[in-house]
Amino acid sequence: MGCIFCEILNGDRAGHILYEDKFHVSFLDKYPIDVGHSLVIPREHHERITDMNPENVGKIFSIVPKIAQAILNATGADAFSLGQNNGRAAKQIIPHVHVHIIPRYNSKGTIWTKRQISTDDELSELAKKIRKNII
Ligand SMILES: [Zn+2]
Repeated sequence: MGCIFCEILNGDRAGHILYEDKFHVSFLDKYPIDVGHSLVIPREHHERITDMNPENVGKIFSIVPKIAQAILNATGADAFSLGQNNGRAAKQIIPHVHVHIIPRYNSKGTIWTKRQISTDDELSELAKKIRKNII
């Protein structure tokens, strides 16, 4: 209880959903490092990937490429980085396993630690655009 990501999965909290299947959901990060910053999470609540069945860890990563490609297509980003933090000292803020997909732009020198605030409308438009690009 009290997990923000589980609340999004249960529909108790709004999220800009990009993709979902039986085991995973992907949505926009509310505090993006850059435009299109998204998360992929398993539906099952685990804090760290070391708490998960290794096969399920593989399953999450197997859907990352198609979501990342859709983000690149929708945003025009030049590249992307992946991040996956386990534990507070690793800067994991929400204790529910998640993979960050962070678009990178040649034209901007993104500072990793700096996050921006987007409006709900901006995120909603962007989510729509990315969903259209998921093949
Ligand atoms: Zn959770």
